[in-house]
Amino acid sequence: MRVLLISDIHSNLEALEACLAVAPAHDVVVNLGDIVGYGANPNEVIARSRELGQVFVRGNHDKAVCGLMDLKDFNPVAALAAEWTRNQLTPDNLEWLRSLPQGPVQISELAGLQFVHGSPLDEDDYVVTVRDAVEPLVVSSAPVTFFGHTHLQGSFETNKVLLESFHPAYKTVGQSEVSDFQLKDDLRYMVNPGSVGQPRDGDWRAAFAVFDSENHIVTFCRVPYNLKSAQDRILAANLPQRLATRLAAGR
Ligand code: ZN
Repeated sequence: MRVLLISDIHSNLEALEACLAVAPAHDVVVNLGDIVGYGANPNEVIARSRELGQVFVRGNHDKAVCGLMDLKDFNPVAALAAEWTRNQLTPDNLEWLRSLPQGPVQISELAGLQFVHGSPLDEDDYVVTVRDAVEPLVVSSAPVTFFGHTHLQGSFETNKVLLESFHPAYKTVGQSEVSDFQLKDDLRYMVNPGSVGQPRDGDWRAAFAVFDSENHIVTFCRVPYNLKSAQDRILAANLPQRLATRLAAGR
């Protein structure tokens, strides 16, 4: 089975469409949350996400926008964007956000995998460093966890003694590229496909991944998208300017 992993789209329609245009063949789409927040096309991105189906995990921005989480936990820019998004969304899309499941989520045909937004221990935890990854890696019932939330593409692994991290190396800064990562049977992993709509690893290109469950290979992907258009829409919506400029920096 081939699983298309998308996360942290953040209402960036241009980035989502660019990913889907180059995504290799797959059997199921897993959306790791933060579908909305920050970008200027929340209704369109929700419509596209619903169309793609099939498996979803809610993110903190999804919760904040539909009122399941207090905006006081957000920085001022994120809170402003969440309020703007709430005002834009159709009642049906708001209701749909409210119905998204909390991670970890599993797929019956894919034993040993689990899907979360932040961490298997807490849906809102940030797993940024190997140190952050120790506990979830060791205590998780599933040997392989796919997660998002940090907007950093890569993987953490452990054999319960040594901990390591992997970040895909790419050759260019502006072209569509892939980087294969082979999982080993005796190790435990936390894998982040990166953020579709607001990467923060210094690479502006939209990020996603595909997991081949037969061969245990994660293919990390980066794809350029129409950045200018996404930025122009953010500015035209009177969202904070920083939300447009940061897209170019990938920060
Ligand atoms: Zn996010």
